[in-house]
Amino acid sequence: MVKVVKFGGSSLASAEQFKKAGAIIRADESRRYVVPSAPGKRGAKDTKVTDMLYDCYGIAEAGKEFSGKLGKIRDRYDSIIKGLDLKLSLNEEFKTIETNFKNRAGAAYAASRGEYLNGIIMAAYMGFTFIDAAEVIFFDAEGNFLADRTNEVLAQRLEKTDCAVIPGFYGAEENGVIHTFSRGGSDITGSIVARAVHATIYENWTDVSGFLVSDPRIIDNPAVIHTITYRELRELSYMGAGVLHEDAIFPVRKEGIPINIRNTNAPQEPGTMIVESTCHQPEYTITGIAGLRDFVAVNVDKDMMNSEVGFCRKVLQAFEDHEISIEHMPSGIDTMTVFVQRHDFEGKEQQVLSAIHRYASPDTIEIEGDLALVAVVGRGMKSTRGTAGRIFSALAHAQINVKMIDQGSSELNIIIGVSNDDFERAVRSIYDIFVETQL
Ligand code: ASP
Repeated sequence: MVKVVKFGGSSLASAEQFKKAGAIIRADESRRYVVPSAPGKRGAKDTKVTDMLYDCYGIAEAGKEFSGKLGKIRDRYDSIIKGLDLKLSLNEEFKTIETNFKNRAGAAYAASRGEYLNGIIMAAYMGFTFIDAAEVIFFDAEGNFLADRTNEVLAQRLEKTDCAVIPGFYGAEENGVIHTFSRGGSDITGSIVARAVHATIYENWTDVSGFLVSDPRIIDNPAVIHTITYRELRELSYMGAGVLHEDAIFPVRKEGIPINIRNTNAPQEPGTMIVESTCHQPEYTITGIAGLRDFVAVNVDKDMMNSEVGFCRKVLQAFEDHEISIEHMPSGIDTMTVFVQRHDFEGKEQQVLSAIHRYASPDTIEIEGDLALVAVVGRGMKSTRGTAGRIFSALAHAQINVKMIDQGSSELNIIIGVSNDDFERAVRSIYDIFVETQL
């Protein structure tokens, strides 16, 4: 049994948090590979070390004095080292960082130091081998992650290493130039390491007890999802549910390795298992509800549209020409509607309209803004009759006007368009009908 454990920023924000992480690792000797994030926030008003690094580097790059800011970053690490009673000095490391900042080593280099330094501390604290991610995680010159090359090198290296710490978030080109994943990318590193060692499980330790059925900013104390499939998770994260970086599922998915989201502050709780497939039915028919505001619907009408071959393609061409990604496309007999994100569309609105006219000669085009989409996701919907009926009667009871319905062919999700103003009430009424009434 081999476990890869990734600790998020809040789990390593202070010496106290490090001690909790250390106790978790020591509690199970199969937790052999550790992927740390940079120190995160110690409280609501605190700043993540990654943000401090970006900020400090911005000043260095502008040729201004940055030693005060770098000193503040060093203080964060020194207080962790002191709190852990370690005989470790980051003097040399900080000298190198200062020189590299002066030489404008790049924002990615700067940001990566957050994980790099935390990795050194974690390795010293646990007595594990430190492996610089720059030696084992590869990117090309455009910043694309090289999955196969990485897997080959990392697997070989870890085969020879019993217990190791590999900092999250970054890697390098073969020539050493550092690249990072997008923000929150240590989750991806954890997944890459899990794949390389054929881990039994990838434990992702954070500050919540797993994925929640819905957004806690909308629902008080939402229920925790015990088991979720990769596909359900993908649907929910796309629609805004946070916790795990979207790209973190791809490496482990290749190997069918489950991910377990756990809470460093409540390690006794089982958290959420993310799996490829399962015979466990979700507790509440639906697995989760997520949603996003600020979509725009472009309604295109044309008599006899249905029999005009190529009509949809012509309309969509207008969006493609303006590099606007399309979210949903419900259609009727003589109408089609294209849902796009408002921030993508706003500045190009009129150009897109004239392009649709040029390409497809519709009768009318109408635009409706201020729309929100709510995604109800669940593998259990396929085998349960009446799910859609319950959703829509809940919405009707809440006096919410449904503007669009889109059910994916996999029957894994139902997407509902409502006005922005109705968004929170829509989520609440669906949550209540499936979860509250069953508690
Ligand atoms: N430290 C990086 C960030 O704040 C990466 C991570 O924490 O996963 O985005």
